[in-house]
Amino acid sequence: MTGAGPADGRGCAVVVLGAINIDMMVSGAPLPAPGETVVGGTFTMHQGGKGGNQAVAVARALRGGPREGSVAIVGAVGDDAFGRQALESLGGEGVGCDSVLVRPGIATGTALIAVDATGENQIAVAPGANQTLTATDVEAALASLLDRGSVLLASLEVPIDAVLAAAFVARQAGARFILNPAPARDVPAALLRMATHLTPNQVELDRLVPALAGDPDRAVRHLAAVDRELRVAVTLGARGVLAFGPDLDRTFRALEVEPVDTVGAGDAFNGALAAALAEERPFVEAVRRGRTAGGLATLRHGAREGMPTRVEIDRAPEPR
Ligand code: ADP
Repeated sequence: MTGAGPADGRGCAVVVLGAINIDMMVSGAPLPAPGETVVGGTFTMHQGGKGGNQAVAVARALRGGPREGSVAIVGAVGDDAFGRQALESLGGEGVGCDSVLVRPGIATGTALIAVDATGENQIAVAPGANQTLTATDVEAALASLLDRGSVLLASLEVPIDAVLAAAFVARQAGARFILNPAPARDVPAALLRMATHLTPNQVELDRLVPALAGDPDRAVRHLAAVDRELRVAVTLGARGVLAFGPDLDRTFRALEVEPVDTVGAGDAFNGALAAALAEERPFVEAVRRGRTAGGLATLRHGAREGMPTRVEIDRAPEPR
């Protein structure tokens, strides 16, 4: 067993569908120009991918609560050392990995990241095994994981057909489906229609509603006009979260923090939101907890390492 699954015969509280990557990072050296070799900086390796990061955010947000340990990830890694490390790390956080496919002869997803002293970065991602995930894989994995009390959280670093298939299984099971449309890309209308919750950042929202780019208030109304039950939470970095739905229309202020690293804030937001919804908290409270988790994640270096725990989310003071 690589982590807790739905041991009580119920579905999982939260199932995350998304990429599992290894991030290799060189920090502190100038960024190389094309063809240039730059020597300097410090090398670190981190567990990454939106799927892996969000699953850990969920596990930590559930820990100590009524549905502790009820989180699984659906994804794919290569049959290599990085894939084994990724599974070990996720399992160690209490994320169920029985539905992660191991692809022989294909590399685990890898991101090569260079960050200079000013924080400017260059990133090259080889999606590897993540790119091999098919609709059939996802259908087989999800069938036994979801029920009416479950939340499926999916992001877009895996093939869109796999996300579509997952959304369909979730809705058939009566589960809620949070679509985190990240990174920004075109999203088929059929996928948007299946979402019960949508969590873009500003760039991703602009991509979803290009005609209203830069005007999140009108863009969320435009999205909600198609489906009046849809709940949208737009993350606005230090400006907080704009939440809109049948029972909510307001902006939540961000935590007042002095960030050291904002990478992973969105993943922390999504993980805590999903965990809160799985605990049957109302949308307003789920957004507040997501907002708090996102803010706390900026206080630590590293996306995965910086994910806050349930206790930290409970204890953070409300912004004035
Ligand atoms: P993403 O990482 O996807 O671009 P955001 O930058 O919008 O997402 O961050 C997600 C959430 O994390 C925000 O809505 C906010 O609540 C919190 N957050 C992010 N950056 C900051 C910041 N500088 N100060 C306080 N909270 C932040």
